[in-house]
Amino acid sequence: MKILVINTGSSSIKYELFDMEHHRVMASGMAEKIGEDTSLLTHKGISPNGDPVEKMEDAVIADHLEGMNRIVQLLVDPDLGPIQAKSEISAVGHRVVHGGEAFHSTTIIDKKVIAAIRKNIPLAPLHNPPNLVGIEITTTLFPDAPQVAVFDTAFHQTIPMKAFLYALPLELYREKKVRRYGFHGTSHAYVAERAADYLGQSLAELNLITIHLGNGASMAAIKRGKCVDTTMGMTPLEGLVMGSRSGDVDPAIPFFLSDQLGMSFKDIDGLLNKDSGLKGLCGTNDMREVLEKKDAGDDRARMALEVYCYRIKKYIGAYFAALESLDVMVFTAGIGENAPYIRELSCSGLNGLGIELDREQNHGVREGIKEISSPKSHVRVLVIPTNEELKIAQETKRVLQNILVK
Ligand code: ADP
Repeated sequence: MKILVINTGSSSIKYELFDMEHHRVMASGMAEKIGEDTSLLTHKGISPNGDPVEKMEDAVIADHLEGMNRIVQLLVDPDLGPIQAKSEISAVGHRVVHGGEAFHSTTIIDKKVIAAIRKNIPLAPLHNPPNLVGIEITTTLFPDAPQVAVFDTAFHQTIPMKAFLYALPLELYREKKVRRYGFHGTSHAYVAERAADYLGQSLAELNLITIHLGNGASMAAIKRGKCVDTTMGMTPLEGLVMGSRSGDVDPAIPFFLSDQLGMSFKDIDGLLNKDSGLKGLCGTNDMREVLEKKDAGDDRARMALEVYCYRIKKYIGAYFAALESLDVMVFTAGIGENAPYIRELSCSGLNGLGIELDREQNHGVREGIKEISSPKSHVRVLVIPTNEELKIAQETKRVLQNILVK
C-alpha cells in the first residue's frame, strides 16, 4: 500500500509518499511560494532504480492545481520518480487543521465531511480553506484513491468541559463554539504512542505530558492515553511562548494597545502572532540564533530564554496537578529534540515533583528516542522525534483497513 500525505498551506503544498509495506519513505518535498513571481519546487526520493535523488528548482507555479500537477509529474518521472503511474497510490491522507467539534478521529472524506470542514472555516480562516483546495485537487487527480482527513484538533476532543470552556458567557460556546480546541494533535498522539512502545507499556496505563516545541509550541496532558488538557486554545495563539507568537497574555492588553497606541484589530493580530514570542523579546524567532546570541553574552536573548522556559515549567506544574500523577514527559519537535539547554532550564528545580534530568544524557547526541531522566527520577523523561506525516499515513491506513474489515 502506497499512501501520499499532503499538507496544503496558503502558498505551499508539502508531500510525502510512504510505502507502508516496507515502512519507508519513497519521496518527499514541497512546492513553495505558489502564486508568487518565482516559486520553488523541491523533491527528494528514490529513483526507479533505487538510487537516492534530489531536485530543487525555481519554477512559476500559478496556483495549487499547477503545484500538485508538478508534484505528480515528479513522482512518476522516469528518472526521478519512485512510481510509474499515479494509480499506484492507494490513498491520500490530508492534514486538516480544524475539525471543530465534528471530528474526534481520522475520517474518510466525502461530501458531508467537506461541508463540515467548510463550516469550521471561521475557526481557522487561514488554514481550512487551503486544506479544502488540496482535497478538491487530489480528489480530481486521484479519482480512485480514497481521500482521508487527519485533524490537528481531533486528539484533543477528549478534553473535558472543565478544561475546554472559557469563563465567558455560555452562549458564546453554545452558539458560536468559542472554546479550547488545541492543535498539534497528530504530533502529541504520535510521540505519546512512541513513548508507550519504548517503555513496553500500554498507553492506557500511562499519564504523560508531551511538549512540542517547534516554531509553534504546545503541551498536552494525557491521562491513560486520552488528552485531558492542552495549552493552545481556540486558536494556536494561546499557551507557550513561541517563535513569533506571544502565547498567554492578559486579554486586556489588546484594549490597552487600541486605547493608548491607536492600533487596529488587524495590527494587534499581527503583533501577537507575528512580532511577539522570541522575536518580540530578542529580535529573532529562530531558536538556534537565540541560543547563539545567549552564548555570545546577549542579555535580551538570555531573558527571552528565561521567559520561554519558565512558561514551560509553569505548565508542567499545572499539568502535573491536572493529571494527579505523572509517569512520562516527552520533549519533541525542532527545539524539543535538539536543544538540551531548553530542556534543562524547563525542568530545573522540579525534583520535588519527581522530575530529575541526567545532565550527560540530556546533552548527549543520539539518533532516535533518548531517555534523559536520571535513574532516580520518578518521572521518565524522553526525547522523541516527531513525525506527523508518518502518523497521518498510519491513520490513513488504519481507517481504510477498518472499512475493509466492516
Ligand atoms: P515547525 O513548527 O516549523 O515544524 P520545527 O519543529 O522544525 O518547526 O522547529 C523549528 C525550530 O527548531 C526553530 O526555532 C529552530 O531554530 C529550532 N531548532 C532546530 N534545530 C535546532 C538545534 N539544533 N538547536 C536548537 N534549536 C533548533
